Amino acid sequence: MTARTADVLLVGAGAMSSTLGVLLKQLDPSLKIIMVERLDHVAQESTDGWNNAGTGHAAYCELNYTPKKADGSIDTTKAFTINSAFEVSLQFWSYLVEQQALPEPSNFINTAPHCSFVWGQENVDFLRKRYETLSSHVMFKDMEYSEDPEVIRGWMPLVMQNRPASQPFAATRVRYGSDVNFGALTRFMVEHLGKQSDFDLLVSHDVQSLAKQSDGRWLVNVKNKADKHLTPITAKFVFLGAGGGALPLLQKSGIAEGKGYGGFPVSGQWLVCTKPEIVEQHAAKVYGKAPIGAPPMSVPHLDTRIMNGQKSLLFGPFAGFTTKFLKNGSYLDLIKSVNLGNIGPMMSVGANNMDLTRYLISESLQSHESRVKALRNFFPDVEEDDWELSIAGQRVQIIKKNPAGGGKLEFGTEVIISADGSLAALLGASPGASTAVQAMLSIVERCYKDQLATDAWQQTLKAMIPSYGKVLSDEPELLSEVRARTLSVLKLDPTL
Ligand SMILES: Cc1cc2nc3c(=O)[nH]c(=O)nc-3n(C[C@H](O)[C@H](O)[C@H](O)COP(=O)(O)OP(=O)(O)OC[C@H]3O[C@@H](n4cnc5c(N)ncnc54)[C@H](O)[C@@H]3O)c2cc1C
Repeated sequence: MTARTADVLLVGAGAMSSTLGVLLKQLDPSLKIIMVERLDHVAQESTDGWNNAGTGHAAYCELNYTPKKADGSIDTTKAFTINSAFEVSLQFWSYLVEQQALPEPSNFINTAPHCSFVWGQENVDFLRKRYETLSSHVMFKDMEYSEDPEVIRGWMPLVMQNRPASQPFAATRVRYGSDVNFGALTRFMVEHLGKQSDFDLLVSHDVQSLAKQSDGRWLVNVKNKADKHLTPITAKFVFLGAGGGALPLLQKSGIAEGKGYGGFPVSGQWLVCTKPEIVEQHAAKVYGKAPIGAPPMSVPHLDTRIMNGQKSLLFGPFAGFTTKFLKNGSYLDLIKSVNLGNIGPMMSVGANNMDLTRYLISESLQSHESRVKALRNFFPDVEEDDWELSIAGQRVQIIKKNPAGGGKLEFGTEVIISADGSLAALLGASPGASTAVQAMLSIVERCYKDQLATDAWQQTLKAMIPSYGKVLSDEPELLSEVRARTLSVLKLDPTL
């Protein structure tokens, strides 16, 4: 059978593959790109609206990005990295809006002030110190802080309704935080790709196997789920943007760089409220502190969500134990991913993280009543019947070999690239879709080195991302310029 050919094969139609596809097509419109998706629609896994929290992660409100150091000071390293990466996303989306490649921004991004809220003296002291440390830098200069119940009530009325004044509390706010419908954004990006020549989208097609050929190209076998027909595709470059499905495909690719990796799946659930009289009383994303012993992705938050013009509230996440790597995956995913290369790290992570496993199982078994009890910390007057359970996407946390031969569980994202730059994969899920542009740029930098050195690519990159090549946190003027533009183009600044 004759194989179809492509310059670029994107596996999966989520936030990552679509971002990489748009970046590459902007840089070189002549590239022939094929995108393959196993489900019958684009962006139906982690990227879809309710499958994630839609927080435009900028480290304004997420307390786990600024841990307390042993000497009591605040570690801001992660906060600066994530804020800079999100600024890159905002610049790219602004560019696409200006090019009319994306529609009116409120179709995929909306203002939702990013707040942190804590109670208890120790947490109040931590939040004050975090605020003082961060707001002294231009990147976080617009952060506000208050311990005054009336001020906080103005920021988050539901959270303050009938809250006993018996314990101290404090909050911070950044007014131009955002709620992003990553599902809509991704569908718009794929729609834009579809209008260009040399782009093909194959939905309901599952990548079954891939192998490097002697001519340096990848031969990828793709199965049509409807008629079981197998189509071979050869490609110069393959991106495994398959979300939870990326690990098994990376293993099948056999590249040396992918050896020893394993995955630890964690599922997620939300409580959702659509009752207009409640929804209208909250207009923010309010992040708290994770309970002691909980993994970092379990930081509880009460969020405004805006999807297709409809507002609702979300509270969670409630993590859960599962053996599936994708929401639409198989319970055999975890066991099938164990091989001789990763069994050591997987066993050691399993043995050393029994507390986490127990925590996840207990979270999964919670009753509606006990979930609502957790919500009551954020919304004292909550009525049980106003909230429903909604199942979120899967996050496959990375398990890596550590130098001592054991395993290490990581909660971030990692890009894995073959030595010759012909294959890249993205593992992990945090900070996720918010930093997709930065993550995909890192792939372009390593897999298209020669092209990137040309004036044409450099110029296009600078047009798409004016801060490209600069460290935004070190360039206050550039940061102010870039932020003023993105807040205006994306209509995120409520004071404008
Ligand atoms: C509970 C939860 C909350 C989150 N909250 C946030 C948040 O607030 N902010 C944020 O920025 N990020 C958040 N994230 C992370 C974010 O959702 C992900 O990082 C992002 O959506 C990942 O995009 P992706 O394209 O890599 O994966 P996905 O969206 O999962 O897409 C992968 C695609 O690949 C397809 N696929 C898989 N295997 C194959 C195969 N063999 N052949 C063909 N296709 C295949 C899948 O069907 C899927 O469509 C959250 C995630 C979860 C689960």
